[in-house]
Amino acid sequence: MSPYKHLLSPLDLGHTTLKNRVLMGSMHVGLEEERGPFEKLSAYFARRAEGGVGLIVTGGIAPNRAGQLKPFAATLKSSREARRHRHITDAVHAHDGKIALQILHAGRYGYTPWQVAPSRVQAPINPFKPWPLTKRGVRSTIDDFVRCAALAREGGYDGVEVMGSEGYLINQFIVRHTNQRSDEWGGSYEHRIRFPTAIVEGIRKECGPDFIIVYRLSMLDLVPDGSSWPEVLQLAQAIEQAGASIINTGIGWHEARVPTIATSVPRAAFTWVTKRLRDSGVVTIPLCTSNRINTPEVAEEVLASGAADMVSMARPLLADPDFVNKAAAGRAADINTCIACNQACLDHVFENKRASCLVNPMACHETELTVKPATAHKRVAVVGAGPGGMAAAATAAERGHRVVLFDQAERLGGQFNMAKRIPGKEEFVETLRYFDQRLRAAGVELRLGTRFEAADAQGFDHVVVATGVVPRTPQIPGIEHPKVLSYVDVLAGDVPVGDKVALIGAGGIGFDVAEFLAEPKKDPSVHPDLAQFMAEWGVDLGGWGADRDGGARGGLTEASDPHSIRELWLCQRSRSKHGRGLGKTTGWIHRASLKKRGVHMLGGVTYLRIDDEGLHIEVDGARQCLPVDHVVLCAGQLSDDRLVAPLEAAGVAHSVIGGAAEASELDAKRAIAQGTRVAAAL
Ligand code: NAP
Ligand code: SF4
Repeated sequence: MSPYKHLLSPLDLGHTTLKNRVLMGSMHVGLEEERGPFEKLSAYFARRAEGGVGLIVTGGIAPNRAGQLKPFAATLKSSREARRHRHITDAVHAHDGKIALQILHAGRYGYTPWQVAPSRVQAPINPFKPWPLTKRGVRSTIDDFVRCAALAREGGYDGVEVMGSEGYLINQFIVRHTNQRSDEWGGSYEHRIRFPTAIVEGIRKECGPDFIIVYRLSMLDLVPDGSSWPEVLQLAQAIEQAGASIINTGIGWHEARVPTIATSVPRAAFTWVTKRLRDSGVVTIPLCTSNRINTPEVAEEVLASGAADMVSMARPLLADPDFVNKAAAGRAADINTCIACNQACLDHVFENKRASCLVNPMACHETELTVKPATAHKRVAVVGAGPGGMAAAATAAERGHRVVLFDQAERLGGQFNMAKRIPGKEEFVETLRYFDQRLRAAGVELRLGTRFEAADAQGFDHVVVATGVVPRTPQIPGIEHPKVLSYVDVLAGDVPVGDKVALIGAGGIGFDVAEFLAEPKKDPSVHPDLAQFMAEWGVDLGGWGADRDGGARGGLTEASDPHSIRELWLCQRSRSKHGRGLGKTTGWIHRASLKKRGVHMLGGVTYLRIDDEGLHIEVDGARQCLPVDHVVLCAGQLSDDRLVAPLEAAGVAHSVIGGAAEASELDAKRAIAQGTRVAAAL
């Protein structure tokens, strides 16, 4: 019997049956604004339907112009637009899939000067101040939601998801801080929830009983004046009565200062909230739970615990479209697991770029990056078994080439072996497991513990140079002092480190090393503790929602400050914000985490010398000595490209990828994408 019997069992919605309990959560990927017949978006969704997803939900589509997330964002307000959506729905239905369109009105989160909201209360994350909706405006907005749902039906969708969470317009109506109206749409809680209930009632009436309506309900606002638990229960009941088919879980407004989906969030960290709604017994329709569910084991455990009837996963299906089918076939170890880094998905969307996936560069590029069998089989040497080298070797071998993968280290993974040791980056272990499986399945010959020289290229038709980087050693007097360590000594070498430490360089590695040195050492395979995480970020895990009256508004309580086990100074020469180059969606978490741990952040630093006393620096003309036991160098990297010139001289066909090609922007996302592309073209 399958170990995932709950996950894979069908869900009867009365008028229709979903083939399993996996809902692909809504995620904007930057293809929604594609012109013409949605060729790329259709291929992206079709691939997930082919992979076995029970119900797909599209990225958010605005029901009118005022609801757009940004200028030119996708809307659905005419039959002409609905006809274009037929391409998507037909492609999904061709794979026996089901798909719902998410209706999202951004309200005061719209990055446009024409955004509207219940009241004129500006969002802290938006430079634009909203226009308050008139009474007529409220009515016509409800009508626009209903029209959008009807058009979705016309476009072939099996249903809609009404986006009622994450702090968007509907959420703004529900919470008093953003809804300061005194008419029938404001005031008491009953009045404030009229807006969402009127929308769901209207859609049910217009679209009939055989149409799926998912309502994404903000169960935990994580903002100071958010909903109380009794209010959440009251809303859930009202939404069921209004005609919803499924209630999906929303966690945290976008302006909340609690991480909800980053790698440092424990797996399935918020499913307890959905379970409390389920256990309350106030609703009978299926509940879907969400956030940081990324393996079939976790999903199964959540469902088996009775927390919910479905699980929502968005990023894990970007990482591996075949997630469900692999689980069903007993091949869970082959799943390319989402590591919750946000680097190629959400960070791209925030930068107005098309989303993809760090571990799966084919995501959202289904029509452009395809791996086909090679016409002529070559002998390929891949030098360097970091993420880029592993991706190149696996892809080339899967195409039918004979591939040998060399690395002077004794194990696969390169820099990932250091990353997996950073607190909150435990998921990198999964990527190593995935590539290990994939390389074996593809028949790649591994030559670990072997240094490859240009002379070894004889007999190979092509060499992929994926040798990565070497740490940069800055020119500072005393750099040879025994108290100076490189980040590699600390993260890979297990060198003992003293109680007072200065870090030179505050980029991604500097932040990682600071987090590593601030925390007691632990087994990288052990995931963060839920209670500890909630205490650190001030989420009321104990009282909130445990009974009808318990807990503070929005689920927030006082946060604890887990002090560092060492005194740390994170130094940089520039005066810009520390960690400026970190991801948009995760940089603030790293900064807040180090601040909580009392790490000193020093900018505008001139390094004078290192000696027995410590690190001598000058900041704003004032000289001081940081009395440290160790100085750790995190000053960036240089390409390890020593193979390139001899290969060129010998006339060997080769490609250079990842850090070996470009050290300054070293990152696994580029390395994996380059490795895959190079091998796909061999
Ligand atoms: P980095 O981000 O380029 O940072 C290098 C740091 O070293 C900077 O703070 C720089 O600051 C300093 N530096 C550079 N040259 C120096 C010199 N000659 N003397 C003294 N200081 C010097 O490089 P990284 O931290 O090694 O990270 C490498 C890559 O890995 C990055 O591209 C990053 O994307 C990726 N990464 C990301 C994460 C993450 O997002 N969480 C984590 C790890 C790695 P000043 O020049 O101001 O002194
Ligand atoms: Fe997951 Fe990172 Fe891929 Fe986004 S980019 S889907 S977070 S692995």
